[in-house]
Amino acid sequence: MSRVLIIGAGGVGRVVAHKCAAREDLFEAVCLASRNEDKCRQIAGEIARPIETATVDGDVPAQVSALIRQFKADIVINVALPYQDLTIMDGCLDAGAHYVDTANYEPRDEAKFEYKWQWEYQDRFRRAGLTAVLGSGFDPGVTNVYCAWAQKHHFDSIRFIDILDCNAGDHGYPFATNFNPEINLREVSANGRFWENGEWVETMPLEFSCDFPYPEVGSRKSFLLYHEELESLCRNIRGLKRIRFWMTFGESYLKHLEVLRNVGMTGIEPVDYNGVPVVPIEFLKKLLPDPASLGPRTVGRTCIGCLISGEKDGIEKSLFIYNSCDHQECYREVRSQAVSYTTGVPAMIGAAQIANGNWKIPGVHNMEQLDPDPFMDELNRYGLPWHVVENPDHSMTFLHDRSK
Ligand code: NDP
Repeated sequence: MSRVLIIGAGGVGRVVAHKCAAREDLFEAVCLASRNEDKCRQIAGEIARPIETATVDGDVPAQVSALIRQFKADIVINVALPYQDLTIMDGCLDAGAHYVDTANYEPRDEAKFEYKWQWEYQDRFRRAGLTAVLGSGFDPGVTNVYCAWAQKHHFDSIRFIDILDCNAGDHGYPFATNFNPEINLREVSANGRFWENGEWVETMPLEFSCDFPYPEVGSRKSFLLYHEELESLCRNIRGLKRIRFWMTFGESYLKHLEVLRNVGMTGIEPVDYNGVPVVPIEFLKKLLPDPASLGPRTVGRTCIGCLISGEKDGIEKSLFIYNSCDHQECYREVRSQAVSYTTGVPAMIGAAQIANGNWKIPGVHNMEQLDPDPFMDELNRYGLPWHVVENPDHSMTFLHDRSK
């Protein structure tokens, strides 16, 4: 049995807390900590099983390690913000706890979406006999595991991967983001990038789009973005020739995004306002609806999957592996909409694989480097059932259609 410490009491932290509390088979005690302990207490009050709460600033390694020691945590699930990844990893190394997160470390001053800083912890985690699992959300996370599972069971060689992420939910606001606005807007306003024949190909932000027929949702316009799982998957999937990532956006979202970008509200450099340095995107975050408040009002479904093609026994084949979630069903279960749900459930399952020993391998790992089978099994059991469409008609009919 393990003791699990969750850091970050936002939309995802709520789901992780609910789901870890429900795993009495593996987690003997659960603690939810954030800078603002009131948020933790509120979430703890929603959960039937008693869980502990605490205050911690994840930017301060000494606070993280002190809390790990005090609570005697075996595993830390970091669902604060990507800025805290390294300091929380430092705290884990100092106090001897395993580590799981859902997003790569980001420096505050520039959006990078790179794993290099966390990969540099490889030797330290190995030497300490500790496991770090990087990116155990949906994308990254489940998408990496889908690719590893396809590689293990369905292909001798995978040539092409397209990761397709559709949120067809409607929250009724003209503009809101489904997870942390700062992180979401950084991701969408950055240049796009995909990997082909061993090289990165850069695009303008949202330059390419395609219509993709998402099962259980329907056809949706999807835009090519860079997404962090591409960096590890292009190294770890054998025979790969190309990997891309696509995400859907509604008309209203795109219209607002364009205006906000044009007037400089998505900037991450501080601007002097009457002697006070203000980071535009942080100020914008204050004005936008809190993603955690979208749960009760969001209706519709998500569908996220991997379209994978390659060769098995000399025959060309393709698969679409996906999950689709209903926002309101997620809300009824854990008081969060599906975007937080689809991130929080895999974070719990990643920690569970360390707790049950399946993934207790010293070192720093991306998800596709670990055995996908027990994780795929738990996705079906704990709320994110997956489906496989073999040789889908639409396989590779879309390439890079210019959206503008
Ligand atoms: P939120 O902004 O809703 O929550 C983050 C929480 O972290 C806040 O409530 C905040 O609470 C806490 N926090 C911020 N800074 C610190 C700090 N220094 N120390 C301790 N706690 C802190 O974000 P989400 O819940 O939507 O997202 C959480 C993470 O999940 C993010 O890293 C995001 O990028 C990632 N994510 C990953 C996805 C995936 O599929 N892989 C998809 C969606 C999100 P407080 O005010 O108490 O500090």
